[in-house]
Amino acid sequence: MKPNILLIYTGGTIGMVKDFETGALRAFNFNNLLKRIPELQLLDCNIDTVSFEEPIDSSNMNPTEWVHIAEIVETHYETFDGFVVLHGSDTMSYTASALSFMLENLSKPVVFTGSQLPIGDLRTDAKENLITSIQLASLQNNNLAVIQEVSLYFEYKLYRANRTTKINAEHFQAFASLNYPDLAESGVHLKINDSYLHRPNLNKSLIVHKRMNTNVVIIKLFPGISEVVLRSVMETPNLKGMIIETFGSGNCSTEVWFLNLLKKAISNGIHVVNVTQCAGGSVMMGHYETSSQLKNIGVISGKDLTTESALAKLMFLLGEKTSCKVFKIKYETNICGEMIQN
Ligand code: ASP
Repeated sequence: MKPNILLIYTGGTIGMVKDFETGALRAFNFNNLLKRIPELQLLDCNIDTVSFEEPIDSSNMNPTEWVHIAEIVETHYETFDGFVVLHGSDTMSYTASALSFMLENLSKPVVFTGSQLPIGDLRTDAKENLITSIQLASLQNNNLAVIQEVSLYFEYKLYRANRTTKINAEHFQAFASLNYPDLAESGVHLKINDSYLHRPNLNKSLIVHKRMNTNVVIIKLFPGISEVVLRSVMETPNLKGMIIETFGSGNCSTEVWFLNLLKKAISNGIHVVNVTQCAGGSVMMGHYETSSQLKNIGVISGKDLTTESALAKLMFLLGEKTSCKVFKIKYETNICGEMIQN
């Protein structure tokens, strides 16, 4: 039996075509996808499409839309063998990371993809991204999906979604996964790196988590950040979580005012997470003197999380109403392959 694949079109450049008379880009009706891209009929699967009523640029994505995507997967989970989410590349890593937490016990592929050029453009990267994503979502072994997690395919590489970051606004190779190896590579053959794939417990059924708490903030440290700026952020009403992008392996200023502000935030019940502003590598609190104090006052280690994943995990765990007592332990524990195990 051919696998059934559902394409979920949310918006972004991939679904736009150039009007050759005016030169302007406009979204096209995704239900006519098969007509527009006849190559899709050569694929060894049945393809169905569902589109956001009003496709959006991914800069307008937010947790409400994440839930919308999760609900589409939930509704069609039994009838489809795999899902391909077409999404603008700008915030794709945020959405895909969030979905990896929201879709607990996922055992079917959810492949995010998009493109830098519209599908109608002569030099487009959209066709290869789309066609290979569908092929990857269709792969089966003994009637079981080969990919059983949320992933992101772009420019010949399949990545674990919650390990990705958009690194380039221009190159076709727009994404990178610096802290986790590629799940698959597309060349003459599709090369699947089996040992890096996530393997869920198949006896458990899908649970879709829909409560993401948005009372959070990300602060990128910079030399010269002032007390007044940091204080005003920490005094945001109802703030529940804060991600600090620190220097190198999790280091920050040792100035007294800085540490006192953090201490106060933590004693007020705000969860403070330390991630590095480097593109790759991990936070190691206590490695330098400039991070030991963070460890001592109870800052959570984001280890090797990307900022996108750190944000999604924070919103997710806050939404699950995780108690203050176990929040740090839960946050520092790997949930779905997003962080190093130890
Ligand atoms: N601005 C677009 C978006 O993220 C870019 C893209 O589609 O890649 O929706």
